[in-house]
Amino acid sequence: MLSLTTLLGFNFRWPVMVPGEALALTLLMDFVILATLEFHAPRGKLPKKYLRQSYTTNFSLFIVNSIAMSLVSASSLLILAEHYSDKGLLNKLSIPIGKAVLSFLLLDLLMYLWHKASHSFDRLWMFHKVHHNDPYLNISTAFRIHFLELFLIYILKAILIIIFGIEAAMVLTSEAVMTFFIMFHHTNTSFMGEKLLGYVIVVPSLHRTHHSTQRCEHDSNYGAVLSLWDRLFGTLVELKPAEIGINGGSPQDLINLIKFCFTLQTQPSVQPINLEAMIAVAAYYKSEKRGFYPGNDIRDWLEAKSEIITLVYGDMSVKNSPTGKPQCNYFKFINLMNNKSIQDFEEVVHC
Ligand SMILES: [Zn+2]
Repeated sequence: MLSLTTLLGFNFRWPVMVPGEALALTLLMDFVILATLEFHAPRGKLPKKYLRQSYTTNFSLFIVNSIAMSLVSASSLLILAEHYSDKGLLNKLSIPIGKAVLSFLLLDLLMYLWHKASHSFDRLWMFHKVHHNDPYLNISTAFRIHFLELFLIYILKAILIIIFGIEAAMVLTSEAVMTFFIMFHHTNTSFMGEKLLGYVIVVPSLHRTHHSTQRCEHDSNYGAVLSLWDRLFGTLVELKPAEIGINGGSPQDLINLIKFCFTLQTQPSVQPINLEAMIAVAAYYKSEKRGFYPGNDIRDWLEAKSEIITLVYGDMSVKNSPTGKPQCNYFKFINLMNNKSIQDFEEVVHC
């Protein structure tokens, strides 16, 4: 994400598309438009007192981050890009537009992979949980990122820029696009055509699922700009989360939030369950009930399977749910509901 110092401190040499100051102003205007949208057409009404606290903490952290990241401005990504743009792998590509598109896709993919890793490894979740602990998801949550996480992202982007020789103008453009989209998908709003737009880009409803308190729901929808990566890697989930934030008490003030990243709070993992053994036992009892009469083995097995899955994971059918939401949080099973094939069912049961 762009920091103030990156935007204001860089002077373009080529190509002069938009001066840094104008870009900063554009993003500021984007913020005002999205914040107004959030205010006038909120997805859900947020309590004013807590929303004020969220804004105060998140913007204080943004200022701290901008100061902290200014320490690495001497070797900023843009200067690195200027230095390595004629040496990287993309330099072999002669079509400028192809180079620009690939550069953007690579940076967006890097953000997807980093985000996925932040949820997969406890040592990275340490930093990332700071972003997730906002219980009132709103546009300012976009700025709730610990500076140590920002620094690690900075290192990874620097490596990518050096390897592929991504040009400075493209780095700045991608960063500006990403900053806009990160603000956009955190906005507490909904609009017509959101679902359709979600086929291409990360929309607020998709990212809202990502901020669920339930691990099996928030371990999904990792994309920054394009939802393509989640679709490609099977991590896309479409559901309304019941609660936002992280489980258990966590600090909401600036100082304690900064300290919060140094506590190793491991996420409860989804425990592997020997479903096959449970289903076999249930099927045996069903068979016993009808005196082991032959010919109904498959029916017993399928009934037992359905009952055990419901018992372990809850009722996955939205139709049968009193809340109108799937009662199970295990996203593979939610996706499974769209697929009636027994083979797919078996595959999930075996995972
Ligand atoms: Zn996340």
